[in-house]
Amino acid sequence: MNAPYLETRSLSKAFGGVNALADVSLTVDRGEVHALIGPNGAGKSTLISVISGFERPDSGDILLGGKSVIGRRPYDLVRLGLARTFQSSRPVVGLSVLESVLLGMHIHRHASVLDTILRLPAYRRERSRQEQRALDILRTVGLGSRSRDRARDLSGAQGRSLEIAQIVATEAVIVLLDEPVAGMGATEIGLLADLVLHLRSEGCGILLVEHEMGFIFSVADRISVMDFGRVVDSGRPQAIRESKVVQSAYLGSSYEQQGGVADVVGGSE
Ligand code: ADP
Ligand code: MG
Repeated sequence: MNAPYLETRSLSKAFGGVNALADVSLTVDRGEVHALIGPNGAGKSTLISVISGFERPDSGDILLGGKSVIGRRPYDLVRLGLARTFQSSRPVVGLSVLESVLLGMHIHRHASVLDTILRLPAYRRERSRQEQRALDILRTVGLGSRSRDRARDLSGAQGRSLEIAQIVATEAVIVLLDEPVAGMGATEIGLLADLVLHLRSEGCGILLVEHEMGFIFSVADRISVMDFGRVVDSGRPQAIRESKVVQSAYLGSSYEQQGGVADVVGGSE
């Protein structure tokens, strides 16, 4: 079975007169990090919202594990192994860090409803097994000492690490990350790169929207470039780094203010 786990076919989506997505076809394989770059307004977040069922495309198809999932609700898609993060994270109010991770695990709970209601031993065993696993995951993302704190009290960067922990807990097959390193310092970015590579080594396919080029080049197997709702280039990181199309797509964007395309795409060799 070599079919890509996630495939979009000619997805289009307009908001008023704006073509946020125009004929977007791409794939994400298991064990692959596919990065998506492009200027602000290119349609990257819209693509993630459409794939994850938060927005409906005007036309096109989305295949997950070879089956069309057009029209499926976000909750259904999570059950099929799709997980996403948001450009700004939204911790569930009132939950502790540990509870936030447990929240995603209910899908995989094996005790029956009756066991749960009666709090039978099977439920208690399952519950304690899950708490152990949640704590292990929190340690992996560097939040082991924060498990009892309220999720909303975490810093922005820690909130993103918590989101990764939640994704690991749901045992997702395809993970959609929307600008995960925003607001993070170098240490946290390094930790997140390790986590992304960890997810990949577990067989996850990752679609990564990001502006931070150092991060992208440290994790991406493939890079696609969007501009005005279209995929304008796609290839291995080295090829994209040298691509003229990429460089012209970035001209006039916010990258220019950061010192121009050469700094962003090519580094400063
Ligand atoms: P990116 O994530 O690449 O910065 P977006 O997907 O957020 O781009 O936006 C693509 C285009 O679609 C932009 O012109 C944006 O203003 C527009 N857009 C996105 N979401 C909405 C929405 N919910 N309503 C109206 N316009 C939207
Ligand atoms: Mg965006």
